[in-house]
Amino acid sequence: MKYSRSDAPKRPKPERLQDWNEVYLHEAPEERNAAVRTQATRCMDCGIPFCHSGTAGCPLGNLIPEWNDLVRRGDWELASDRLHATNNFPEFTGRLCPAPCEAACVLSISHDAGGAVAIKRVEETIADVSWENGYVQPSQAAVSSGKRVAIVGSGPAGLAAAQQLTRAGHEVVVYERDDRLGGLLRYGIPEFKMEKKVLDRRLAQLRKEGTKFVTGCEVGVDITVEQLRAEFDSVVLAVGALRGRDDKTTPGRELKGVHLAMDHLVPANRAVEGDGPSALSAEGKHVIVIGGGDTGADCYGTATREGALSVTQLDQYPMPPTVRDDDRSPWPVWPHILRTYPAHEEAGERRFTVAVKRFVGDEDGHVRFIELQQVRVEKDSSGRRSVVPLSDEIEVLPADMVLLAIGFEGVEHMRLLDDLGISLTTRGTISCGSDWQTTAPGVFVCGDAHRGASLVVWAIAEGRSVANAVDRFLTGSSNLPSPVIPN
Ligand code: SF4
Repeated sequence: MKYSRSDAPKRPKPERLQDWNEVYLHEAPEERNAAVRTQATRCMDCGIPFCHSGTAGCPLGNLIPEWNDLVRRGDWELASDRLHATNNFPEFTGRLCPAPCEAACVLSISHDAGGAVAIKRVEETIADVSWENGYVQPSQAAVSSGKRVAIVGSGPAGLAAAQQLTRAGHEVVVYERDDRLGGLLRYGIPEFKMEKKVLDRRLAQLRKEGTKFVTGCEVGVDITVEQLRAEFDSVVLAVGALRGRDDKTTPGRELKGVHLAMDHLVPANRAVEGDGPSALSAEGKHVIVIGGGDTGADCYGTATREGALSVTQLDQYPMPPTVRDDDRSPWPVWPHILRTYPAHEEAGERRFTVAVKRFVGDEDGHVRFIELQQVRVEKDSSGRRSVVPLSDEIEVLPADMVLLAIGFEGVEHMRLLDDLGISLTTRGTISCGSDWQTTAPGVFVCGDAHRGASLVVWAIAEGRSVANAVDRFLTGSSNLPSPVIPN
């Protein structure tokens, strides 16, 4: 009650739009640490800490009340130790995770109490203090198991599995199809959410621990399944769920200038890496982003920085509440509040309860306008959603570039899966048993490839859990943690 919640301070908006750096202010360490100690002090060390619980709060089971108290006392080194005990990459989650722990925090129930503990801010600061003070060091395995594991994909799930298995004494080789490591962390997440140097310093730690990396190698093409089987004792598929959901019904979808979100984000991230200007830059264009989620917000902030003439994000759903809808309701509204991202404060416009009726092009077949309608999303008794127009009234908006950020439909088609004889679920993800093993013996799956597009914290939790399963498969038992089970 004595202290209010306060989130990490951001840089001024005009400054943010001049570069691609993270939106948050790089404060002087003493000032930052003092502010975060105050925030950690708000934690009540609940008898039942819902923040920590895997079902309601953190899938990793982060020991949140413990490290909140250590930060309150100023013991950053022990806080780092307790944070890394459950999370391989807290600097990723501190920056990127929408914090289900905060949604679950007991303090989020009451606005009178000032809202949830700023857990995400505390986590990110512990991680940054750890790197600044050298608390993060390579941790090499004491003995070698003599077993070899191939991990396909170097996103957060693959990297978490790789670090756990390397530390358990296995020889781990991570194969990455792209020219650089990191998967979505590299080419999906914009620099203004997490600077790539944050990823690179963690990759350097993994290398020093003994994990090997091969880039520019598509497993199933550049290395065959027969070679993989001959050279490795086990394989982990961490290939993501990158097949973007397309709009198959709106007239005009085939027009030039209408793209899937990742077609915009990947070249934009490559440009920031120094690969030359993006071929799909939004500079000088009226941009429409369709979809109100994380990926849509990433396109929004990217288009703004590229110098778009206008950016408008469309969402079929109503504006998220910023205060409790109904004061009699006991439930937190935190996850809905978090549907507003820093990018939305900077420029552009968000439109809610609207949907595109038609994309309209010019004589060259390039999109120039969209026709917009007010809608409501309805659910039938089976849970199937439909979008119902509220009137015949049509609004026209200029549109030179349309970005479809309406979700992902599972793993991309790849020869590797065919050659391994892998079965998919009806959601387009890779199916597995309760031991994370796919329909191909000795081949395991984790992360978005198993779960469907989800949060970075779930990817890390699944990477840790699959490491336990692979270790058990190779040695008969495992001391590695397994925070989650397959869904
Ligand atoms: Fe602290 Fe909130 Fe967790 Fe309770 S639920 S222990 S107040 S962070």
